[in-house]
Amino acid sequence: MKTLSKGNVIYSFNPANKCVYFVEDGETFWVETDDCYSGQIRTVNDLRPNIDISIMDAAVGPINVSHATPSDLLCVEVLDIQVESQGVMVTSKGLGVLGDRIDTPDTKIIEIKDGYAHFSPNIKLPLNPMIGVMGVTPSEGNFHCVTPGDHGGNMDTKEIGIGSRVYLPIFVEGAGLAISDLHACMGNGELSGTGIEIAGRVLLRVSVIKGRQIARPIVETGDSFFTIATAATFERAIQIAVADMVAILQERQKLDFPDAYRLLSATCDIGISQVVNGVLTLKVRAPKYLNDNRSLF
Ligand code: CA
Ligand code: ZN
Repeated sequence: MKTLSKGNVIYSFNPANKCVYFVEDGETFWVETDDCYSGQIRTVNDLRPNIDISIMDAAVGPINVSHATPSDLLCVEVLDIQVESQGVMVTSKGLGVLGDRIDTPDTKIIEIKDGYAHFSPNIKLPLNPMIGVMGVTPSEGNFHCVTPGDHGGNMDTKEIGIGSRVYLPIFVEGAGLAISDLHACMGNGELSGTGIEIAGRVLLRVSVIKGRQIARPIVETGDSFFTIATAATFERAIQIAVADMVAILQERQKLDFPDAYRLLSATCDIGISQVVNGVLTLKVRAPKYLNDNRSLF
């Protein structure tokens, strides 16, 4: 089985990116990745204001998937996530929801051992490993890896963990998948501006779903599926995520709009992925029984 090394990264998702790795439709492979700081923060003496943030969230890839065309969509199954033994959480002036209360930046190193993140001697957290950045080459625009969008990118959606499937639109031949920003643990919102940031490797299986198209990422777990929307405001992001979900319910349950709208309201939950990446990423969760307990694609 191939391992794609962390030696090849992109700093932004844009149409000029050229694929450096090549995998087959249906292939399973490992991807290694640094943490979101590209390894610049290793000790408590490494402070966020002193690092180069232009290389944050550098994503490993782009990965060409054979037979992927803009008429199709890409399914990325996350089979495993293995994190290293040390994670990091920084605070820094302005970072996160209450960043105005931080005067002096500091860095906390968090040991990962025996399935837990050892936050302090008295507080250990069960690991919830997830992938913060997963995206594909867009057809236009230039999205720094820190910025999420319809191409995916820094969605910081905690459901993108082991056992999940991420459906991504394909805008260019080969898709150009790229990945980074593992978190050992993160809560919805990523409220202080970071998860437990960590390097590691992920085991992925990619498949091309021929002749099906989506406008934005959709995430599926064992019992749920999520439409994911990124926008500048809550109002806009909610509208996009809800409209995408209603369209799925209409199609899958053969309902007219008012009935799908009612079904959404009776069964679906709005959630927040992240509020700290310059734009907002929201999600609408539907229980999988609304798709007969089957995978969406
Ligand atoms: Ca992130
Ligand atoms: Zn991160």
